[in-house]
Amino acid sequence: MSKEIVIISGKGGTGKTSVTASFAVLTEQAVIADCDVDAADLHLLLSPKVMQRNDFKSGYEAIIREADCTGCGACMAHCRFDAVFPTGEKDSAEKLSPACKSSCHLGTDAATDVNRPRKYQIDLIACEGCGVCAQVCPVKAIDMQECVCGEWMLSETRCGPMVHARLGIAAENSGKLVSVVRSEARRAAKEGGKNLIIVDGPPGIGCPVIASLSGADLAVIVTEPSTAGEHDFERVLALTKHFNLPTAICINKWDINPTLTERIEARARTAGAEVAGRIRYDAAVTAAQLQAKAVVETTAAAGADIREIWKFVMSMQMGTGSPLPILNR
Ligand code: SF4
Ligand code: SF4
Repeated sequence: MSKEIVIISGKGGTGKTSVTASFAVLTEQAVIADCDVDAADLHLLLSPKVMQRNDFKSGYEAIIREADCTGCGACMAHCRFDAVFPTGEKDSAEKLSPACKSSCHLGTDAATDVNRPRKYQIDLIACEGCGVCAQVCPVKAIDMQECVCGEWMLSETRCGPMVHARLGIAAENSGKLVSVVRSEARRAAKEGGKNLIIVDGPPGIGCPVIASLSGADLAVIVTEPSTAGEHDFERVLALTKHFNLPTAICINKWDINPTLTERIEARARTAGAEVAGRIRYDAAVTAAQLQAKAVVETTAAAGADIREIWKFVMSMQMGTGSPLPILNR
């Protein structure tokens, strides 16, 4: 069974994806998974060639069949999310079906109000897919349709297979999509005989991060010596401790604040995490990004730092097994 290393950061902008891309380049036996599904950007550095696209379906949305709707308004009255709104011309109560009249949830006045709206529509952005409207509709004019919230892809890169995803605009359930990406990465690892999965985790400490950490073998926290970096490092470290996950940290741009770097490292050691190393501030990192390269594919001094961190990470005990015999380039 393959091992999973998840690179997380607590906050965005610490260099997590640059480190992940370099790790991906430094191993020849890994499947890469981009679980930062809300703002995926690992593809910018690894230039994947998409081999397979798949819809990501999650949740439901309500659709009113206009031809069957009698305009009783029960759906709007019961929707707790204000997702139903009236539309169309006013109508006469005489056109109400007996079913609508007998089960009117708005009261007799509403059922016989000649000024009531004739049709209703659903704002699909506001709709939470709870299904209450479909339950109360007296003529069963509402369908609950499964939502396509995005897509996930299996690709080839110069570093090996990569599973990544794109969440739709305003779409939810990113934690579920993270689980899909991880499970497909495991499948790709099994089918391709790979013994390592490198995961670019989401920022923060919420549902998508938890979904990317559960069942992993090692978390690598990339942080930076700033007030916000230290604060969010503490939060994400508490999360990996909660899951009893072996954890290593590395501090990016450590030389912009050596004092804070030492404080963060001391805090990590106290909490039982390993300090894998430091990455110096290096303008060549941005130059590498502009060339769509991982830092270790250039002569950047920061690349040498990342190589040392990679060696340290590979020497760590992961989960219940032994260190991985991964080749270092
Ligand atoms: S499914 Fe729920 S949230 Fe959506 S329109 Fe119906 S009642 Fe409102
Ligand atoms: S409850 Fe059904 S019939 Fe009544 S307005 Fe809504 S969709 Fe139309």
